[in-house]
Amino acid sequence: MGVGKVYAKHPAVKKNDKVMVISGKEKGKIGAIRTVDSEKGRVIVEKLNLVKRHSRPNARVAQGGIIEKEAPIHISNVMIICGKCAERTRIGKRVLEDGSKVRVCKKCGEPMDR
Ligand SMILES: [Zn+2]
Repeated sequence: MGVGKVYAKHPAVKKNDKVMVISGKEKGKIGAIRTVDSEKGRVIVEKLNLVKRHSRPNARVAQGGIIEKEAPIHISNVMIICGKCAERTRIGKRVLEDGSKVRVCKKCGEPMDR
């Protein structure tokens, strides 16, 4: 998997976008993007792709123990869900009359940003 190239072609997904995971153990699940790592082409999706980490005892957790944490998912493994038509879709771009660009749903053509 060519890490570092693939995502460049991907129109940017943003924080709070709703996405569906399309491969891996979380396939078919939907969540909201919490952070985007555009450098690595990865996103962290709320409550998805959880991994267990052992934490050492520290000031807050005296005992240490196991915590669950979201692991990054590669952008190519998620698809955005349109807020208008509720389909999983791809992001298109449209230039408005004033020259600004908006992201649009390729299925229904509606703007994806409110
Ligand atoms: Zn749509």
